[in-house]
Amino acid sequence: MASIFSRIVAGEIPSYKIAEDEEFFAFLDINPVAKGHTLVIPKKEIDYIFDIEDPLLGRMMAFAKRVARAQEEVIPCKRVGLAVMGLEVPHAHIHLIPIQKESDMYFGGSKMVTSQEELAEIAAKIREAFK
Ligand code: 5GP
Repeated sequence: MASIFSRIVAGEIPSYKIAEDEEFFAFLDINPVAKGHTLVIPKKEIDYIFDIEDPLLGRMMAFAKRVARAQEEVIPCKRVGLAVMGLEVPHAHIHLIPIQKESDMYFGGSKMVTSQEELAEIAAKIREAFK
């Protein structure tokens, strides 16, 4: 069965899309830990990120970098932090999180409450800044 993220790529499940090319897809995390929290995935369904072959993994990182540059442009932050866990969804993904401080990357606490309108607005801004 297709992963939930493959179903997002296919448009079967809605998402706030940030960017897409032939190989990768970026969209807002549904439960952001910080404003602009974005996930980057390969369209090829691979569970564990370190099972991705080197060339594809390299291109995935380069794609994530372009997303991070767009996030930096529109969301006030010191850095865009990067995390990989994959304990919940068995489809490799990179978390890109605009942060002001280390604790902004904390995944164990309560998540942000963001309205659908605000998520749509954030996504539109990052999408526009994506080059
Ligand atoms: P992880 O697998 O890295 O532990 O966590 C999976 C991440 O995917 C979580 O941050 C969670 O909020 C996000 N997520 C899970 N299901 C969905 C979904 O259907 N849509 C979106 N946009 N994000 C999701």
